[in-house]
Amino acid sequence: MRKKQFKAESKRLLDLMINSIYTHKEIFLREIISNASDAIDKRYFKASAKGQTGLSRDSFEIRITPDKANRTLTITDNGIGMTLEELENNLGIIASSGSLDFKNENKDSNDEIDIIGQFGVGFYSAFMVSDKIEVISKTEDNDKAYLWTSEGVDGYTVTETEKDETGTSIMLTLKSDTEDEQFSEYLDEYELKNLIKKYSDYIRYPIVMNCEKSRPIDVTDEEKEKEDYEPKYETYYEDDQLNSMVPIWKRNKNDITKEEYNEFYKDKFSDWTDPLKVISTNVEGVISYNALLFIPGQVPYNYYSKEYQKGLQLYSSGVSIMDKCADLLPDYFGFVRGLVDSQDLSLNISREMLQQDRQLKAIASRLEKKINSALMEMQKNDRENYDKFFDLFGTQLKFGAYEGYGAKKDSLKDLLLYYSNKENKQVTLKEYVERMKEDQKYIYYATGDSVAKIDKMPQMESIVDEGYEVLYCTDEVDEFTLKIIASYDDKEFKSVSDKDLGIELTDEEKKESEEKNEANKSVLDAVKEALGDKVASVTLSTRLKSHPVCFSSGDGLSIEMEKILKSQAEAQGNKEFSDMQADKILELNEGHEFFKGLTKAVDAGDKEKISDYSNLLYDQALLIEGMSIEDPVEFSNLICKLMK
Ligand code: ADP
Repeated sequence: MRKKQFKAESKRLLDLMINSIYTHKEIFLREIISNASDAIDKRYFKASAKGQTGLSRDSFEIRITPDKANRTLTITDNGIGMTLEELENNLGIIASSGSLDFKNENKDSNDEIDIIGQFGVGFYSAFMVSDKIEVISKTEDNDKAYLWTSEGVDGYTVTETEKDETGTSIMLTLKSDTEDEQFSEYLDEYELKNLIKKYSDYIRYPIVMNCEKSRPIDVTDEEKEKEDYEPKYETYYEDDQLNSMVPIWKRNKNDITKEEYNEFYKDKFSDWTDPLKVISTNVEGVISYNALLFIPGQVPYNYYSKEYQKGLQLYSSGVSIMDKCADLLPDYFGFVRGLVDSQDLSLNISREMLQQDRQLKAIASRLEKKINSALMEMQKNDRENYDKFFDLFGTQLKFGAYEGYGAKKDSLKDLLLYYSNKENKQVTLKEYVERMKEDQKYIYYATGDSVAKIDKMPQMESIVDEGYEVLYCTDEVDEFTLKIIASYDDKEFKSVSDKDLGIELTDEEKKESEEKNEANKSVLDAVKEALGDKVASVTLSTRLKSHPVCFSSGDGLSIEMEKILKSQAEAQGNKEFSDMQADKILELNEGHEFFKGLTKAVDAGDKEKISDYSNLLYDQALLIEGMSIEDPVEFSNLICKLMK
């Protein structure tokens, strides 16, 4: 018998498969099972098209038979089978993809045929694990069956053979084990069960295997009562169905209870907390897909580390093709878990190919919108859970709004929450703006380590007196995000530490303030001179009521941002940012007791005292901001000097 050669293209691809360094060789099983499932689909479809009612869906099965003694793994289906020509054409030429031809031919039919493989390399992946492949196939209307054999690139042979049942049986002779690779694991019952659970659980036909089991041998009660009685076990074999067949996301939403979703989530994603929200969507159109997404109820343990991998599980018609498809989720929704199943995705085997997929991009963009609107819906109708959600993952959303120069700020800004001093809880920007006072120009925010610390900030006094609401920024990223968002509903954001708070003064107040500044000019100049470049300017405060001193920020970098950039630069050993400086304006409360002492020192021309007082005031302002003072020893000495 003459050996036939593979076509040149096929030979190259085959060579690639045989010498593959692909790490997921185990996917060969998924490929073969998908083909088997396709073949059954075709037979079922053909039979029902002809009006043959004898065949029901449950007359079909895919059988897995490992044979350790002969080192073979056989996958048998009772699908449509292949004729001599089909064996030659389908298995002799890679990428011929008979599946695609069949689908095109029967395009007009209403009957749903759902064919997994549209990409013709699947079968050949078996060469990654096999030295030899033997395919025996028989079609319905032919008495003869054919055996296709190949040991790789050399070519293949086809001969006539016998087979009773319609369908195909593929026998793989596994490669010898090497130090690096244990091909014999594909003969192990436990391993096979795992692989099928992992990749082919939702194949819609039963995948069965005759499994080894053990049971106690029945003995008489008399025997059991004997003192030296020990139960004996016998081995027996029984067919097990290895896949669960119906994916939850393919079922009608209304038939699925919350419990079922929760259990599915916890089982599938190894979480012990119920999800906060389930998002189930079924899209029909140019690209059709089902997606089942979950907002977790707790932060994954490694979420805020580099090890965390975002991504959704990807299925092509019920067959898992990728565990974590990162391209389906933007970073700021990286906490979402779930899966996408589409019949329009090709069953490609490598990640690189998937990345190119335009369809995937289209799905990703629709999912992003879906997640966004689901979160908005939750914010509106289930605020308690939304608050919980935001506590868990809100920081990520704030980063999302800030990233890429705010490219996504418009779609994310309504999802953000900030603690409000008026409500004593987290509020949205929209809620803030809706209840702004009539004369209020800005959306005010204050930055600090905690709510308690911000409450005590001297800069808060006048704003609170005016009755304005303030948003508390306690996350490092907060102020950066607000600066990027810049405004909401045409209202700009304004830090309570900004030098100009936009609070309108009456003409009288203005005049009074000018006069005071003029009258105290010598004091302010003296302090500025004593502090030199440490401060941008020294002024009398219009915002301080009871507190003696504080900083306000000039344009550009705020004091809080300076603090954050400095600490980050320190942590990363990055010199570039370590000497970034915010413009610090030192504001003094002219009504405060200390001011008299300061004025006295200036009037007396006591240079030493002026310097001591100025430096103390400056250090106090730093401490109030939560910043470290340059020379704590000097600070302590100055205080002791005053106490003398
Ligand atoms: P794909 O499945 O992507 O088309 P494969 O290389 O996996 O590519 O298979 C090539 C073709 O061989 C299939 O399209 C199908 O026509 C045929 N085939 C493979 N396995 C079977 C099977 N178990 N029964 C019937 N036909 C099969």
